[in-house]
Amino acid sequence: MVKSRLIRRVIPFTLLSWILLFCLSLLFTLNAHAARLAIVIDDFGYRVQHENKILQMPTAVSIAILPDSPHGREMAQKAHKQGREILIHLPMAPLSKQPLEKNTLHPSMSREEIGRIIHDAIQKVPHATGMNNHMGSAMTSSLDGMEKVMQVLSSYRHLYFLDSVTIGKTQVTKAAMGTPVQVLRRHVFLDNVQTEAETRHQLNRAIALARKQGSAIAIGHPYPTTVRALQQALTTLPDDIELVTPSRLLNPTSANQNDHQIARKCAKPHEPETVPATKLDYLKRVGNALTHNAIVETLSQHINKLLGKTAKQEVLHNAGKTESPKKDKTAQGNTGARTTTDACADF
Ligand SMILES: [Zn+2]
Repeated sequence: MVKSRLIRRVIPFTLLSWILLFCLSLLFTLNAHAARLAIVIDDFGYRVQHENKILQMPTAVSIAILPDSPHGREMAQKAHKQGREILIHLPMAPLSKQPLEKNTLHPSMSREEIGRIIHDAIQKVPHATGMNNHMGSAMTSSLDGMEKVMQVLSSYRHLYFLDSVTIGKTQVTKAAMGTPVQVLRRHVFLDNVQTEAETRHQLNRAIALARKQGSAIAIGHPYPTTVRALQQALTTLPDDIELVTPSRLLNPTSANQNDHQIARKCAKPHEPETVPATKLDYLKRVGNALTHNAIVETLSQHINKLLGKTAKQEVLHNAGKTESPKKDKTAQGNTGARTTTDACADF
């Protein structure tokens, strides 16, 4: 009798294990073939209404915050709670005459002054893991100027530099040579022309580049047209495109910064669940949630029925307890409600 009961419990468990293994192998296969696309939205800290819409997008969409903007710190805190990657959007001198942000870097500044401004920016944009240039055609085309920036960044080992490439003859990569600073380059600007059609077109260019090169980086801004185009396009990203953070492109084999941030977040109870970072992250969570899913629950009950006893009866019979714990579990499955612990179980 005991043996028969044991078999009835083991068979559904084995079936569930096979389903989970199948899901995991599917995920690994998808990961192996995905082209990686990183999207960074610049100029954060001024347009809260539009920026909040960006924060509702998948967390793999990263944001770059202007250090002296009125809402920069608040946006950094919000994004960090979501596990979103944050860059310092450091103002750098352009060639053309236009209004400048406070603390804009110039090639003629001393290393000490550049160091003071970067240190200040790090304090004002908490949780940043990277930096990119706001404007900067004059600064980034100055090898001497950018070498001073890279020397300063060498002492902040946690910050990579994403070259926004606002000028063809940028010296960023050359300036970083011989330093420990990791450098990335922007491939596509999403919204030089502010229409939804153009942003969609540029996003498609970025996707084509990602397929060709294995990865691509696109930069956009919190313009209404960009927000609308991304809201629509990100829900229909092709299956072979994996949306990633820039830091994933630096360390593709390691767990991404996002995962680390989410893992840290999961250590704290009662924080809101994060938005899935990508389609693949979503699939991972689906796989993870399978063990608490109503369909699996039903499947398990059905298998038990086939074996001659419902799961409910099994619980009552085995434990001699009230049915309330089972009711609780079923209720959770039916409503789809999942706790933070469920969402974080695979980190
Ligand atoms: Zn900018």
